[in-house]
Amino acid sequence: MRQLGLSYAQMQRKLLEDTGIHLSKASISYWLRGIPDPSGSLNRFRPDPSPELSYVIGVALSDGNINVHDYHREILLSVTDRDFASEFSRCLGRVLGRGEPYKVRWSEKRGRWIVQGSSILLHKFLNCNWFNLRKWIEHCGKCESAFLRAFYAAKGQYAARASVSMIRIEKCCCIFKICFGTLASNRHSCT
Ligand SMILES: [Zn+2]
Repeated sequence: MRQLGLSYAQMQRKLLEDTGIHLSKASISYWLRGIPDPSGSLNRFRPDPSPELSYVIGVALSDGNINVHDYHREILLSVTDRDFASEFSRCLGRVLGRGEPYKVRWSEKRGRWIVQGSSILLHKFLNCNWFNLRKWIEHCGKCESAFLRAFYAAKGQYAARASVSMIRIEKCCCIFKICFGTLASNRHSCT
């Protein structure tokens, strides 16, 4: 975008149009100069529909352990189910354009598997009105089933935990119904 001679305000607008993500001018400036942004990493993220992105959305919307800190722009999953953590690490790695999955580390203190990634762009994307994420969830049968897999994995976690985030569960049930209401509409297909 810089090569096109766009101003920060124009870049801001273009980014918003192309990806639906609003970035501050300061973040764009840090990004262009290649200076690590103090508020978090600008890992590569394009909101192209894919089963992996759908899975990440499913985790972000359903699991109370996903923390997107304001300061760190961190996307963190901390769970007892190793397979859940591994699948999330694979999907997150794919979504953020890494050649490999994120590291799944075991925390002795918490007794949990932890996956940690950071990206301002993905943070902004996931932090928007969750209703807008329907487009990605409903993209095709594969995207829908990836979302549901994340939903069920998170549900297993809820069952294992004493405290439950009801708001997140309600949100997820609502999305769940939306998905089932539209499962027949497989207009696209992810490979
Ligand atoms: Zn799809």
